[in-house]
Amino acid sequence: VIEVEHLTKTFGKNDVLKDISATVNEGQVICLVGPSGAGKSTFLRCLNMLDQPSAGHVLFEGTDLTALSEDQLDQLREKMGMVFQQFNLFPHMNIIENIKLAPLKVKNSSDDEATAKGKRLLAQVGLSDKAQEFPASLSGGQQQRVAIARALAMNPEVMLFDEPTSALDPEMVGEVLKVMQDLAHKGMTMVVVTHEMGFAKSVADEVWFMADGYIQEQASPRDFFERPQTERAQDFLAKIL
Ligand code: ATP
Ligand code: MG
Repeated sequence: VIEVEHLTKTFGKNDVLKDISATVNEGQVICLVGPSGAGKSTFLRCLNMLDQPSAGHVLFEGTDLTALSEDQLDQLREKMGMVFQQFNLFPHMNIIENIKLAPLKVKNSSDDEATAKGKRLLAQVGLSDKAQEFPASLSGGQQQRVAIARALAMNPEVMLFDEPTSALDPEMVGEVLKVMQDLAHKGMTMVVVTHEMGFAKSVADEVWFMADGYIQEQASPRDFFERPQTERAQDFLAKIL
């Protein structure tokens, strides 16, 4: 679904991504892990051109995103849902309005259609009773589940997650990971930047370890956690496990 070819990203003199080639296949769950500053967020943002690569190509379903106009990009971005550490819900809209907004605006859905879909998605993330509430009255974990539902409302083909549980109180991490796990089991293609190694172990098809501007290892979770090949990954795991 996504092919990355010789991707390079430089901020000023800082070579953040140095020559990355990788493929995400349909239905795969990739967990992207690595030390702070390794370029994980930058990599994720290059996948949907929120960050413009300095060199190299990103192909989404065969289309080279680096060759597209902003308008064309906007259309393709609809197929890539993104969830960030901060939930960024609109505070003045209730939950169902938050979820319906993009489908109404961009997809020309009817209000009934968008409402029905929004309710289905709220049920999927376990929040059927919150449709009329405002974001401020929800916990962080609940807000993040709404943010996931909102991304899903656009029928994305891929979901990109950038540390979706890092801003949450510990007791709310599990409920969000559960929703992501369910999504993975339904066959969603996902790229997940995370420090939740338990999630990576049990849900990822592949773990990609990023450090010093490169993907240093691409392995099954089992191989990565039990037999990391590079010293860099061994150090990383020794620090966090
Ligand atoms: P973390 O685990 O802390 O989220 P990360 O792996 O996501 O780290 P990035 O946020 O991708 O790392 O940042 C990689 C490097 O790129 C850092 O040195 C950062 O300062 C730099 N960087 C990221 N975004 C920008 C930007 N918009 N302008 C300049 N430098 C940037
Ligand atoms: Mg980051």
